[in-house]
Amino acid sequence: MKLNRRVFIGTGAAAAAALSAPSVFADGHGKPRVVVVGGGAGGATAARYIAKDSKGEIAVTLIEPTRMYYTCFFSNLYLGGFKEMDDLGHSYGTLAANGVNVVHDWAVGVDRDAKTVSLASGGSVPYDKLILSPGIDFVDGAVEGWDVSAQNAMPHAYKGGSQTELLKAQLMAMPEGGTFAMVAPPNPYRCPPGPYERVSMVAHYLKANNPTAKIIVADPKPKFSKQGLFQEGWANHYEGMIDWIGEDFGGGNVSVDPAAMTVTIDGEVTNVDVCNVIPAMKAGHIAEVAGVTDGNWAPVNAADMSSKADADIYVLGDASQQGDMPKSGYSANSQAKVCANAVRGALTGSKVFPAKFSNTCWSLIDTNDGVKVGATYEATDEKIAKVDGFISATGEPADLRKATYEESEGWYAGITSDMFG
Ligand SMILES: Cc1cc2nc3c(=O)[nH]c(=O)nc-3n(C[C@H](O)[C@H](O)[C@H](O)COP(=O)(O)OP(=O)(O)OC[C@H]3O[C@@H](n4cnc5c(N)ncnc54)[C@H](O)[C@@H]3O)c2cc1C
Repeated sequence: MKLNRRVFIGTGAAAAAALSAPSVFADGHGKPRVVVVGGGAGGATAARYIAKDSKGEIAVTLIEPTRMYYTCFFSNLYLGGFKEMDDLGHSYGTLAANGVNVVHDWAVGVDRDAKTVSLASGGSVPYDKLILSPGIDFVDGAVEGWDVSAQNAMPHAYKGGSQTELLKAQLMAMPEGGTFAMVAPPNPYRCPPGPYERVSMVAHYLKANNPTAKIIVADPKPKFSKQGLFQEGWANHYEGMIDWIGEDFGGGNVSVDPAAMTVTIDGEVTNVDVCNVIPAMKAGHIAEVAGVTDGNWAPVNAADMSSKADADIYVLGDASQQGDMPKSGYSANSQAKVCANAVRGALTGSKVFPAKFSNTCWSLIDTNDGVKVGATYEATDEKIAKVDGFISATGEPADLRKATYEESEGWYAGITSDMFG
């Protein structure tokens, strides 16, 4: 690369950092290279910000198998009939037009000594800094009777796109007075309020189209995110329709039989028409392949999202074990901006700002009945630590709930353009 004037005429910390940083300028391969694996909430944001803010000084390659990313956020609203599938799809064209080299392929290996990522189609991509944001995979054997080969009979719909469409098709095909079952996941998992917003949206659909149908939720947890708000909403809008069976009532002692379409909760067998199995989760497989996981997740340093196992690898979003932030799209986007700033600083000597993070999770319970929970966070030596938070109150007036829903619509438009351009 051309020597960067700012590096040499800059003053203070930025110049000092640039001069003391491990030099990729002298490696003889031109621009510093960042490879991002996973073009979802975390990866797309990181790729976009590094390309945009480095103004061509860093070569950014994004590896992502799909050509359209369908958000999980707002996918429950699609189940409820508030959104179309097309509303949730985002392409990579704008990222490509703005300088990101988008490669549609699977990353299948990481050679940390050679600093290369190998691709399913063959070949490998070199990096100076590698950012992993592969989202989640499922823990084998987490729900007795279920593995990914059963995902067509009993969909998880916890990755966006075709799984969500399948669950909607099954919901629409339910017989009159049928039973929709959900097996909820144990902590920690992607989107803490997600299963319960889904129950609300399924109930909304059934109330209008199949009002004698029932919903059973087998939950291994004693309590869940925004529980008071959801249970108040379920009593107000969907009385008698939803049976939540928590840990105390044997909700964790569950097995399924996808061939027979039965769910067994604490020894009691129930025939069901739809069964949404959301198993326990772990970091996307490539994080394990790269050797940056410890148990199910990838521990990171809060200040810059760098892996605790390798200073040249960063892990974003759901795959990371970072501390207090929930696994959400908003969190992944927030972490990606901190990471992008730190990576750019390490590679070009640009100013690195102190890490600040934020998150809000909105949930729709029924038409215009939106609730939210959120917090701000800072980096400490141990973790991303919560600073302060807020949550909707029970019994709020209808106009406030409507405003909260409208706020979530604005958030979706803003954050998806922040991710995909
Ligand atoms: C029902 C539901 C509702 C939700 N609602 C909300 C909400 O309202 N608000 C909110 O903030 N969050 C919400 N979320 C959570 C949000 O979707 C995730 O937290 C977020 O997508 C995590 O971002 P990520 O970058 O970690 O992973 P993802 O967005 O899942 O991106 C991972 C990407 O990596 C790619 N990938 C995986 N492995 C490889 C590989 N080996 N090579 C190349 N590419 C690979 C995948 O194809 C995928 O595109 C919801 C989730 C669900 C399931």
